[in-house]
Amino acid sequence: MTALPPHDWPPFLPGWVWLCGAGPGDPGLLTLHALHALRSCDVVVHDALVEPAILDWAPGVERIHAGKRGGKPSPKQRDISLRLIELAREGRRVLRLKGGDPFVFGRGGEEGLALVEAGVPFRVIPGISAGIGGLAYAGIPVTHRDVNQSVTFVTGHDQSGEAPSAIDWGAVARASEVIVIYMGLKHAATIAGALMAAGRGALEPCAIVSEATTPRQRVVETVLGRLAEEAARAEAPAILCVGRAVLLRQALDWAGVVRSADPLGTRGLSASA
Ligand code: SAH
Repeated sequence: MTALPPHDWPPFLPGWVWLCGAGPGDPGLLTLHALHALRSCDVVVHDALVEPAILDWAPGVERIHAGKRGGKPSPKQRDISLRLIELAREGRRVLRLKGGDPFVFGRGGEEGLALVEAGVPFRVIPGISAGIGGLAYAGIPVTHRDVNQSVTFVTGHDQSGEAPSAIDWGAVARASEVIVIYMGLKHAATIAGALMAAGRGALEPCAIVSEATTPRQRVVETVLGRLAEEAARAEAPAILCVGRAVLLRQALDWAGVVRSADPLGTRGLSASA
C-alpha cells in the first residue's frame, strides 16, 4: 500500500466516530483524510453506495453494512445511529463511510446530531459528491461561464420515497439554468413534467449518469421531454442533469471521444478575456 505523505494527521482515537465521505466510486477520488481513516479505524460502517474496492483499502477491518437503498429493505436511520453510538461506547474507532459527501443528501447531519445527543465525539470528512464529481467524469461542468451562474442540487425523493411535495419545482425551474437531481430516476416523469409546466423546454438537453466514476459508468444524453422514458431504462444510482451544461460533453467528454470544440456554438461570440 502507498504510504501516506507526511502530515499532521489527526489521531483516530478509540471511542470516536468519523463521518466520512467516500466519493462517488472511483477509489482515486477518496480524500487523504478518508484514506488515513481507512488505515486507522477498527470498524467500517458503510452504505450500499460505497464501492467495494474502497473497502479493500482497509484490509482486515470489520465491515458492517448499513446500506440504505431505495426500494430495498434497509436498516432504519435511527438503528444506524444507535449502532454507531454503541460501537463508539465499546471503545472502537468507528469509520462511518458514506457515498459521496456525508452531508449531501446523505443523512450525515442526522447521524451527527445523534452522536452529539449521545455525547460521542466525532469528526466530519467531506467527500466528492456525485452531483459534482460524477458529472465531471461524464464531461459535464456543473458551472460554465457561458451557461450558468448558479446550479441547483435537488433530491427527487422525500423521506417517504415519493416525489418531494415540499419542493417548489416551478421555483427550481426558474432559479438555475442547470439542475442536478439526486435520486431522480423513480420520479423522473413527475419531475420533468413539473419543470416543463414551469417553462423549461421539452428540447432542453439532459443527461443521466449511472454508476458515475466506476468502471460501469454509463451516460445517456437526452432531452427533457424524453427524460422519463430514458430514466425508466437507466441503472441506479444515477444523477440527472438538466440544462445546456450537458452540451459541453461534446467537447469535454474526456473519458470518451472528443467530437466538437465549440459545443455551445459560442466561439467568437463570448468575450473571452
Ligand atoms: N451523499 C451522496 C448522495 C447520497 S443520495 C453524494 O454526495 O453523492 C444517493 C444518490 O446519489 C443516488 O440515488 C444518486 O442519485 C446519487 N449517486 C451517488 N453515487 C452515485 C454514482 N456513483 N453515480 C451516480 N449517482 C450517484
